[in-house]
Amino acid sequence: MELPGGVWRDGQRRRRYAFRPPTGELEMAVAEGAAAAGSLPARVTAVLTAALADLGGAPPDHATVHGLCVGDRQFLMLRLAAWLGLERVWQSVVCASCGEPFDFCLEYRRVPVKAAGAGYPHAQAKTSHGRLALRLPSGADQEAVLGLDEAEAVEALARRCLMDDEARRLPLSVADLQAIEQALEAVAPEVGTRAQTACPQCGAVHTFTLDPYGCLGWGAEHLFAEVHRIAATYHWSEGEILALPRARRRRYLGLIDQARGMVG
Ligand SMILES: [Zn+2]
Repeated sequence: MELPGGVWRDGQRRRRYAFRPPTGELEMAVAEGAAAAGSLPARVTAVLTAALADLGGAPPDHATVHGLCVGDRQFLMLRLAAWLGLERVWQSVVCASCGEPFDFCLEYRRVPVKAAGAGYPHAQAKTSHGRLALRLPSGADQEAVLGLDEAEAVEALARRCLMDDEARRLPLSVADLQAIEQALEAVAPEVGTRAQTACPQCGAVHTFTLDPYGCLGWGAEHLFAEVHRIAATYHWSEGEILALPRARRRRYLGLIDQARGMVG
């Protein structure tokens, strides 16, 4: 499995990644990382650090995960949701044109992915100060601009992405900021979190946005309930049950349901 961007290590771009096996232990680690105190970027880093077994050919560490470019982090969060069994999300909406309700399905594995452009993770923007060298923003950069209003955040993020200390102190016009944004977009890997669909009644086209960080909201309640049902039947320990691959846990739950049906 390959990242659309990748990490640089020993002068080489490394795109390989792997998640830990999809057991209850992994689900619990993800739920705990998601529930930890801290900002959204910090929680994404905690979840990915817990979930990855391999990042660019080495075990993941907090700094590397926090320093991944935003596109790679969104990509990994979507792939993690699929790895933990989420295939699709349904959204129920009311058509703004005709007022009819309809359901719309987004498939996690079909989310389009744009690989990084030439020069990744660096870019150059033509600004009023000449060409300025840039690097793509990371989770750490996102975290650094939290709490600023949108215009301030755009400018602060652009400055952080400038490679040169002196360049960071230059005044940046709106046109400069646009040039920086465009240059970064051209090399940034991306996941297509927007999808369009037509209303089945009137044909009006609607755009939907998929939250790439959706699995942060899952919680562990279902997992506790499943451990409880299996423990109550088989008297295995919590550790033993969480160590089961997700698919095997599901089979035991199916058998428990079946047995209950036969009794009832
Ligand atoms: Zn409609």
